[in-house]
Amino acid sequence: MAFVNQNYCNLKESYLFSQIAHKVAEFSAAHPEKKIIKMGIGDVTLPLAPAVIEAMQKAVAEMGVKETFRGYGPEQGYDFLHEAIAKYYASFGVDVASDEIFISDGAKSDCGNMTDLFSNDNVILIPDPVYPVYLDTNVMCGRKIIYMQGKPENDFLPMPDDSVKADIIYLCSPNNPTGAVYTKEQLEKWVAYALKNDAVILYDAAYESFISDPSIPRSIFAVEGAKKCAIELCSLSKTAGFTGTRCGYTIVPHDLVRKTKDGQEMSLNKMWLRRQTTKFNGVPYIIQRGAEAVFSPEGQKQCREMLSFYKENARIMAEALTKKGIKFYGGTHSPYIWMQCPNGMGSWEFFDYLLEKLAVVGTPGAGFGSMGEGYFRLTAFGSRENTIEAMERIEKGL
Ligand SMILES: *Cc1c(COP(=O)(O)O)cnc(C)c1O
Repeated sequence: MAFVNQNYCNLKESYLFSQIAHKVAEFSAAHPEKKIIKMGIGDVTLPLAPAVIEAMQKAVAEMGVKETFRGYGPEQGYDFLHEAIAKYYASFGVDVASDEIFISDGAKSDCGNMTDLFSNDNVILIPDPVYPVYLDTNVMCGRKIIYMQGKPENDFLPMPDDSVKADIIYLCSPNNPTGAVYTKEQLEKWVAYALKNDAVILYDAAYESFISDPSIPRSIFAVEGAKKCAIELCSLSKTAGFTGTRCGYTIVPHDLVRKTKDGQEMSLNKMWLRRQTTKFNGVPYIIQRGAEAVFSPEGQKQCREMLSFYKENARIMAEALTKKGIKFYGGTHSPYIWMQCPNGMGSWEFFDYLLEKLAVVGTPGAGFGSMGEGYFRLTAFGSRENTIEAMERIEKGL
């Protein structure tokens, strides 16, 4: 008899986005004359950079010619892309070797697949609120999960607590959904905690390119000692508009070594290579050429323009909320604004209020964890026109 993985019974059904869609459809049917503005979009809206399109078109042409056609590539990615990423890291002062970089179809897959490398006996430490993938992928393995609270008292940036014993720690900075970003000093404390406890930090840097202050690390590896205790997940999804194109990368340092339960020392880099070569057959050549172009001078210039566009939206949003005296986090090094619901409203209560009264849609913070209750996420991925209009409605009507 085939038994299924019982851990799946412990997953909580996520009603967040279906509930939002349902409420919006209902409102739209009742008020067809009202223009609804969606400020909850968690996806980019600007098209791929011209340099990326050009590189992919060239790669498509190569695939149609016998001499330049490519079949299976290296599972961990082509060297041309490893080298482009290593150079990119060097541009902000972080040294990573080509064979520490693994190309994948995105950070979400790597985040889920990474659970393969660790024993299910580990205690997992997850921030609340946070990107729900960290939690669900570990629930699927039946692991013990403990939470650290993001709250106004710590600016939604939980710090290590020596009385808490965690083996695997998830950090996301700049954070989804709060937009909060760790300083170098704060990351140093996390690295010190991980080294002291032989823990491993899984660092999600999906929003690193939104950081505009050079004193804030773009990578956990900007912190000394991090190569002995961290894995970094990154993605071109938000930084170059690759959400539908699919390409990310994970950095597993050679210095990262941990023991099996019976004391055998293992290199995480070798384990991840073994895992990927066994279960994955690589990202398409055409996509990797597109990704390489993201890191070219032309591609970087074009992607920075896209980021500036989103960041200007965030600035407009932050300005309007400041005028209204509404407390919020993020919006500077992040496309997300995490606002406190006015007048003590709950997340869903405020969602309904904003929709009914102003026809503006956002994401209830409670959907990202219990500490998100009373908060609300707005995103800067909309058009300029809609962003301005939504904030005008909020300024006048809230
Ligand atoms: C969007 C996002 C990602 C990117 O996932 P991909 O699979 O690369 O598209 C990773 N982490 C967080 C926190 C995100 O919000």
